[in-house]
Amino acid sequence: MESNPTSKDPGIYLDYNATTPVDPEVFARIEPYLKQFFGNAASAAHHWGWAADNAATKARAQVASLIGAKPTEITFTSGATESNNWVIFGLISKIREENPYEPIHMITSCVEHASVIKAMEAAQKMNVEVDYLPVNLFGQVGVETVRKFIKPHTKLMSFIWVNNEIGSINPIVELAKLAKERKIYFHTDGTQAVGKIPVNVTEMGVDMMSFSGHKFYAPKGVGALYIRSKDPKVQINPFIYGGGQERGLRSGTVNIPGVVGLGTAAEICQRNMNLEPARMKSLRDLLWQKLQAAIPGVRMNGHATERSPINLSVTLPVTTDSILPQLQKLGISTGSACHTGTMTISHVLNGIGLNSEEAQCTLRLSVGRWTTEDEVLRAVEILQNAIPRKNV
Ligand code: PMP
Repeated sequence: MESNPTSKDPGIYLDYNATTPVDPEVFARIEPYLKQFFGNAASAAHHWGWAADNAATKARAQVASLIGAKPTEITFTSGATESNNWVIFGLISKIREENPYEPIHMITSCVEHASVIKAMEAAQKMNVEVDYLPVNLFGQVGVETVRKFIKPHTKLMSFIWVNNEIGSINPIVELAKLAKERKIYFHTDGTQAVGKIPVNVTEMGVDMMSFSGHKFYAPKGVGALYIRSKDPKVQINPFIYGGGQERGLRSGTVNIPGVVGLGTAAEICQRNMNLEPARMKSLRDLLWQKLQAAIPGVRMNGHATERSPINLSVTLPVTTDSILPQLQKLGISTGSACHTGTMTISHVLNGIGLNSEEAQCTLRLSVGRWTTEDEVLRAVEILQNAIPRKNV
């Protein structure tokens, strides 16, 4: 395996849930598409255009293969934020086009990514009814809870597959099954699942899935939306209109370097799927085991076993703010943020019942392809040293 691409940086990057570096193999395959193969995939009259179009075709097949879809079911987007917005507004637009008065109800949860929650809030302003379901103490949605919220006019269920803050995995197969029984479209935000755990949208009964390349070693600003083509054939309108690229579903010149990166990253994840998740899990488990030994009273958030292999969310005996200066060499993420003097607490931590003080004591650490055991041990040491003795 290549040495750590962030190795010139003396710190330890443990924020792979936030973003990943581009894999060197991905970078190498992108480069020609920034230089000699710079054509527009829509230019049908010359070889520059054909090369770009062929690259997109190959990338679509690579992405489809990673998630168990057909290439025609993959549409490239700028990332999960766009894909999530597309699902919600594309469906509303499709339903309203056919019948402007048809009532629309959507079900989601209170621990979704902001790109689902904020889009749902905007949909409410367009007279769409939305329920934000409560979750259990681990941040998971219960099938029986969902059942109680279904209405005759429920058109969409949208649940995050793997939570980006606390790592818990939702029971996607059971949720998708319920949606299918009730003839409701099932969308999942798969951003933290794709490339990290085995994902097969066809077998798992998912109708739509959003994801972003930069969470699995492709560049930022590229992602996709999977849209099921049969049983059922999902009917949504485009979200972005224009030149009719991506079979009219998503206009705009296709980001060829980006999709080549996405495709290559997908191919690498698929190749590594037998080994990488297990390696991530053992590093993450080591991190947790050492942290427990070093910091008495530390608590883990999210489900103990039904969780992302890369994610560890912990609540410390001190506020993260009080130790941040000592954590400068650690790339980690905190459960609260201070914006111009006001403290914003993560809605996810709030959703699993943490109070404001506990959220202020919460850190997210996430491992990735270049994390080493030595880095894990050094990170624990840094954290341990940062916490005042009286708290340890
Ligand atoms: N959903 C989840 C679960 C995420 O973790 C993220 C990125 N933090 C997004 C959506 C949005 O992805 P992007 O910023 O690449 O559009």
